[in-house]
Amino acid sequence: MYLKRLELQGFKSFADKTMLEFKPGITAVIGPNGSGKSNISDAIRWVLGEQSMKSLRGAKAEDVIFAGTQNRKSLGFAEASIVIDNSDSKLPIEYNEVTVTRKLYRSGETGYFINKAPCRLKDIVELFMDTGIGKDGYSIIGQGKIDEILSNKSDDRRHIFEEAAGIVKYRTRKVEYEKKLEQ
Ligand code: ATP
Repeated sequence: MYLKRLELQGFKSFADKTMLEFKPGITAVIGPNGSGKSNISDAIRWVLGEQSMKSLRGAKAEDVIFAGTQNRKSLGFAEASIVIDNSDSKLPIEYNEVTVTRKLYRSGETGYFINKAPCRLKDIVELFMDTGIGKDGYSIIGQGKIDEILSNKSDDRRHIFEEAAGIVKYRTRKVEYEKKLEQ
């Protein structure tokens, strides 16, 4: 399984439809300060369901929508898709290629899609659970993540190990069922 492609439109500095192809192996993104390199990893985390605007380096949800420049008007929506090669069936879904999309309109209307079919955020979280790819997985290592691994708080460290061990799914289900039982 690997990330084949990232498609952006109206996301942060990527006003125009932009497609980034990733080949197997290592890809390095280089460019001047402020040219949008970090916006690329922000987009990946956003598609995976990141809700924390702080970690997306914004204040409110609509800060991910292209805000305009001196010469260009702002846009009304942001859309990002990640396309994953799933020919090894690591993702529990019967498709060789999986496209996950998130869309947000300035009005606040929002949507998640798996292979163009509308879905819930929960479906996306479950799809990537225990693969290491989810927004809390260890495949996106930002500065804060390194702190988490080195953290003195055992809860922070445990989360990383649990994801790697593939047991997050069971822990999440346990919490869900306990809540239901309580109700
Ligand atoms: P550095 O090398 O300094 O870390 P970078 O290449 O990682 O920089 P980013 O932080 O990804 O750059 O991009 C910052 C740029 O994105 C800024 O120019 C900022 O104005 C622009 N930007 C962020 N959000 C929006 C938005 N909603 N609309 C338009 N532009 C945006």
